[in-house]
Amino acid sequence: MELLEQFHLVKPKFAHFKLSMINITLPDGSVRQYDPGISAMEIARSISEGLARNVLAAKVNDEVWDSFRPIYEDSSVKLLTWDDADGKSTFWHSSAHIMAEALEAIYPGVKLGIGPSIENGFYYDVDFGDHAFTADQLPAVEAKIQELASADNPFSRQDISKDEAINYFTAKGDPYKLELIDGLTDGQITFYHQGNFTDLCRGPHIPSTGKIKAVKLLNIAGAYWRGDEKNKQLTRLYGITFPKAKELTEYLILLEEAKKRDHRKLGKELELFMFSEKVGAGLPIWLPRGTMIRERLERFMRQEQMERGYVQVVTPHIGKKDLYVTSGHFEKYGKDSFQPIHTPEEGEEFLLKPMNCPHHCEIFGHKPRSYKELPLRIAEFGTVYRYEQSGELNGLTRVRGFTQDDAHIFCTADQIKDEFKAVIDLVIHVFAKLGFENYTAQISLRDKVNRDKYIGSEENWVKSENAIIEAAAEKGLVTVTEYGEAAFYGPKLDFMVKDAIGRKWQLGTIQVDYNLPERFELEYITSDNSKARPVMIHRAPFGSLERFIGVLIEHCNGNFPLWLTPDQVAILPISEKFEEFAKTLLNYLEKSDIRGLVDVRAEKIGRKIRDAEMKKVPIMLIIGEKELENNEVSVREHGIGDVGTMTLEGFVTYFKQKLI
Ligand SMILES: [Zn+2]
Ligand SMILES: [Zn+2]
Repeated sequence: MELLEQFHLVKPKFAHFKLSMINITLPDGSVRQYDPGISAMEIARSISEGLARNVLAAKVNDEVWDSFRPIYEDSSVKLLTWDDADGKSTFWHSSAHIMAEALEAIYPGVKLGIGPSIENGFYYDVDFGDHAFTADQLPAVEAKIQELASADNPFSRQDISKDEAINYFTAKGDPYKLELIDGLTDGQITFYHQGNFTDLCRGPHIPSTGKIKAVKLLNIAGAYWRGDEKNKQLTRLYGITFPKAKELTEYLILLEEAKKRDHRKLGKELELFMFSEKVGAGLPIWLPRGTMIRERLERFMRQEQMERGYVQVVTPHIGKKDLYVTSGHFEKYGKDSFQPIHTPEEGEEFLLKPMNCPHHCEIFGHKPRSYKELPLRIAEFGTVYRYEQSGELNGLTRVRGFTQDDAHIFCTADQIKDEFKAVIDLVIHVFAKLGFENYTAQISLRDKVNRDKYIGSEENWVKSENAIIEAAAEKGLVTVTEYGEAAFYGPKLDFMVKDAIGRKWQLGTIQVDYNLPERFELEYITSDNSKARPVMIHRAPFGSLERFIGVLIEHCNGNFPLWLTPDQVAILPISEKFEEFAKTLLNYLEKSDIRGLVDVRAEKIGRKIRDAEMKKVPIMLIIGEKELENNEVSVREHGIGDVGTMTLEGFVTYFKQKLI
């Protein structure tokens, strides 16, 4: 009895303790209360065991944390699984730690650089010292990683002082880690441990190594320490891991398919573009067949833009350094890009144009503008140059010089929504015309909390963010909204396209900008005769022609839509005897705007067909005795085979139907 009374007596104390519990806000807005020190994993368990099994990390107040790290304050918590990009990157970065552990076990004394996650998988830069490491040894490392994964060793996090961190890596003899520690602030340094391995790392990590069920080390490459050619070259090991074995199998099939479609390989086979050491890395050279594709895309876009009220301009490839100082581009990118061009004139400096926007601002500002001129849509196929490190270059998708289908729309804040809707229409039209059927839109808005970093008035931001959200909704786009992803100068909408083999590409951006009109002091006269600043919208449906064509080649596997393909028909005479007829036929087709070639080589017809198939020419017209006599063509389609004999008029009709 006494005990019970005591219990009652302490009850108020419990109530008091309850008050000091912390509030955890989940993504659905629900709030749960927990004792301080609760971890995201424990929160997951309190919801369901099944959920907890899938948790890899957590977003705690917009920062990605270990699921095992204690939370002491009121927080918003989002549990991250394999389905979240941050979940995947935590998984892959943790895999890099396990690979490092495996390497230390097999090659004692290896020194480690950095080991981040990348878009697909992870890498670690390793100094093998006296061990000679080649790609043949990857399977052995793979096996060791698998063994360490099955051991299911937990990851743990440790705050460590700078001195202790230095002592640890001095004793271990790892100069790279010591160099990294040198750049860190005491009090903000953490170590992570798993199994027999300790690494200097900010984290976060997955709960334990057992989450990894499948591993594949993909390749090795040389990489200079800190990307600097003056430093030692380390060995970069690339790998990928998955939480299910089945996913690895699927990924390897995808890799094979991607290899076949690689635009660098197809670009060579189809004679679309080339690179030349003498011209310079990252500077694509368009061959006649590739140029045809480019020009057709340009013509298509020009026509669409004309119908949609754009005006076309041309601006120079270089501009005075001052222009980019005004625009802010020099301050932001100047040091890491192509350096100024000096003329014989004292003190004169020009930059290769990195962006078209400053030039277009000058066009807007060159004469007084009235509200009646808005929206003013200035378009240009503008070639720009941006320096990329040689290691970053990749075919047409990462280059140093490229042409944007750029346009800048100068408008009032009230016009933003309609302009967004019109650009969304254009982008969707482009996708449809080129066979991209699967896409979503990402809306990037301001950070919900930290708003000091954004320029422009609160009123304008609210207006433009709402305009984008409403425009996307009214156009029926499937959207994801990302807070904190807006640029400091305005919100934006990006299209994410899924290609034929399921890879995601960002194509097409529409971006609001309050910054450049301010920097260039752009103005227009309003209806009540006062002055106002226009809003600027940057947009490029293709992005760059280079990257777009690179993605398109891989998406359609070199089988371009009929309207775009370089040679629509290949006329294949069975022998020299039919050459004249073949040429007359080509002439006839050209009058109906059908483009093609005649294969006049003294090759057997079988060979001619095979080569036309190789070049992925969509339609082959075979002509011999019978065709000449009856003024007919035998039609063959790429990947299909014979489709029968047609009269010349009949073929033109057949072709035009296919174009639609
Ligand atoms: Zn780490
Ligand atoms: Zn721009």
